[in-house]
Amino acid sequence: MAEHRTIAPNEDPVCGMTVDVAQATAKGLVRTYEGRQYVFCGKGCFLEFGDDPETFLAKDFTPSM
Ligand SMILES: [Zn+2]
Repeated sequence: MAEHRTIAPNEDPVCGMTVDVAQATAKGLVRTYEGRQYVFCGKGCFLEFGDDPETFLAKDFTPSM
């Protein structure tokens, strides 16, 4: 299993933004991956993460907008 970065429960793993978890949940901008929940600021990040979660969770990935 690949090692992942430390990502806060309210952090968008794609762009690094802090996300309101309740709002993201209401909008369906939540994904569960390998038993963990990730939240996203918008549809763009949500879709990007779905294409290749490992890219965004990799130790050497730096989130940017
Ligand atoms: Zn985002």
